[in-house]
Amino acid sequence: MLADQWGAIFSDELTLRISQINAVMKQHRSHLDTVYAEIRPDLLAEEQKGAVLARCWICEHEAHVVVAKGPEETACKVCTSRETFLRHTCEACAEDFLAEPVAGSQQCPHCSAAMSHTDIADAYTDEGAMSPHDALIDDASYGCCVECSTLESVGTVADRFFCFSCHTWHETMGHCEWCSSKTTGDVEDTYWNGCEQCEGRAAQG
Ligand SMILES: [Zn+2]
Ligand SMILES: [Zn+2]
Ligand SMILES: [Zn+2]
Ligand SMILES: [Zn+2]
Repeated sequence: MLADQWGAIFSDELTLRISQINAVMKQHRSHLDTVYAEIRPDLLAEEQKGAVLARCWICEHEAHVVVAKGPEETACKVCTSRETFLRHTCEACAEDFLAEPVAGSQQCPHCSAAMSHTDIADAYTDEGAMSPHDALIDDASYGCCVECSTLESVGTVADRFFCFSCHTWHETMGHCEWCSSKTTGDVEDTYWNGCEQCEGRAAQG
């Protein structure tokens, strides 16, 4: 059949192109490996000075130098891709570690102490820093993240909004016009349709 012939030609062409792409990727990867080998002494020197080295999810080298505590966006020293890490000091053992992007509780890798993402958020957010008095005037609750749907996970960090569950930055956070809980989702029409946490006016019949 004609279609089969075309299919065979097309797939040969495609196979060839895929193998060309693979060859380029392989070359690129070996270049990145070389860069990593060259800068590794510098990375280890940074670690000696107190930085935590994090693995890049693009090039897979341990080449992100995380210095600051709290959420910080860094550029990979090998492939320059940007990623946010959350460096935190364990309250139980005072050692630093990188928090996992997960909802709920996680363990300190040094002493196995358990903590929730809101325990970690309290250390770095405007909400966590509020005195009980200010919290009465201002809303000190954490917002719901529209990316990962985790409730009480988004806090204010340096005028931006960071989800301590999935480690995503959000540019806006508003209040649901029906239940007034905080969300990074679109608050337009929330009076009628509600938000992640309520059904809105429409459900009232
Ligand atoms: Zn990288
Ligand atoms: Zn610990
Ligand atoms: Zn999230
Ligand atoms: Zn609501």
